[in-house]
Amino acid sequence: MKLTILGSGTAVPSKERFSSSYLIEAGGKRLLADCSATAVARLAERNIDFGSIDAVAVTHFHPDHFAGLLPFVQARYVGELQVRPVLHRPLALFGPPSLRQRWHKLREVMWVEPNEFAPLSFFESDEPCRIGTVVIQPFPVRHVEWFPSYGYRFSHGAASLVYTGDAGPVQEDRFFEMIAGADCLLIEAAARQPGQTHLTVEQAIEIGQRSGAKKTVLTHLRDNQVTDAQAIASRYASQDIEIATDGMEIVF
Ligand SMILES: [Zn+2]
Repeated sequence: MKLTILGSGTAVPSKERFSSSYLIEAGGKRLLADCSATAVARLAERNIDFGSIDAVAVTHFHPDHFAGLLPFVQARYVGELQVRPVLHRPLALFGPPSLRQRWHKLREVMWVEPNEFAPLSFFESDEPCRIGTVVIQPFPVRHVEWFPSYGYRFSHGAASLVYTGDAGPVQEDRFFEMIAGADCLLIEAAARQPGQTHLTVEQAIEIGQRSGAKKTVLTHLRDNQVTDAQAIASRYASQDIEIATDGMEIVF
């Protein structure tokens, strides 16, 4: 399994850190976890054919995780029109309940051509699902009260990756069951101070420690948080902790 960080930043992208998006490759499949407005730019930069993505797993509906979904699907659709014979590849969309309804609202505003349809399938439940030999297990995450949020556990053979999306420090037991013992825990650490909707670096590291993750990757950071995050991470010498940067690749 290979994780490529396409966007390790927050809602305020910088030159170094674009907003949330991650590419997961395993078993010949390609999946995106979150799709910010800057995701297509990072995919284009890496010469990744949009049509080669098999699934997108959206954690929640804040724009820095979700706003790139329509531009991504539309760019893929238009790109496929330019190749003969025209073949629109199926795309699976995973997300919390209301994903499909929100997608249709986006289409109403930004993609109005009535005869154009990308072959999309929507998965809004927290039941496990397969894309080829990759298992996707969504699980509920507490973030904000305005909509439900999911995290995802991706497994391929013995390899596992957990991505939390945005998460507050108080979570249900199921959250801790689902994140337990991952090879790689990709966890947000956006909060400067403890709060209800995001994790601080210390809280993220402690969740990583408690979960038994082999490697904890801290993400969703501003440029000016990185020095402090590195100093805090260095206090946990027994743990394998990395600070995500755009373009970072992790194979496990
Ligand atoms: Zn959020």
